[in-house]
Amino acid sequence: MAIIGVLALQGDFREHREVLDRLGAVVPEVRLPKDLESLDGLILPGGESTAIVRLMRTSGLIEPLRKLAADGFPMWGTCAGMILLAKRLDVTGVPALDAMDIAIRRNAFGRQVDSFEADLSVPVLGHPAYRAIFIRAPIIEEAGPGVEVLARLPDGAAVAARQGHLLATAFHPELTPDDRFHRYFIEQVVSPS
Ligand code: GLN
Repeated sequence: MAIIGVLALQGDFREHREVLDRLGAVVPEVRLPKDLESLDGLILPGGESTAIVRLMRTSGLIEPLRKLAADGFPMWGTCAGMILLAKRLDVTGVPALDAMDIAIRRNAFGRQVDSFEADLSVPVLGHPAYRAIFIRAPIIEEAGPGVEVLARLPDGAAVAARQGHLLATAFHPELTPDDRFHRYFIEQVVSPS
């Protein structure tokens, strides 16, 4: 069975773990560089990206994670985790893992719309539509030529994308009972057939 680590420094890593447990994966929690040994893939959870980056620095995880991401190791960033993966950020920060060729706008929906749900058409998941939960969410403002946009909001904003071994979602698949995104990551990104 797949060994899928979850970065467990801050944010909603427990919810990801519960979904992965249900799917039968082995799910080590990653807090230190040594925890990265023998994983098949890694999830970077939602939370507060600035806090996660700070903790990644103090725990010595930034460099090993940058190297893994550059070397083709499968990673999936959800919400704050997507911000960590990006090569380009708005004025609010410097790239953490500098891995995925996307430009991010943080807190793209402003203070008035703290959170909302939306039905997304996601061709790689098939039917029915995927109900996504957005919480102080970022959006993908630009995606490079090697990036496949997997879903957009009705106004056209890109909210899910894949670049080979890297998957990014602006929303929180760990907070809904629909586990199709977790299965997609395990079956299509971590172990492509
Ligand atoms: N707004 C958060 C950030 O910029 C992300 C929110 C989330 O992960 N739910 O890091």
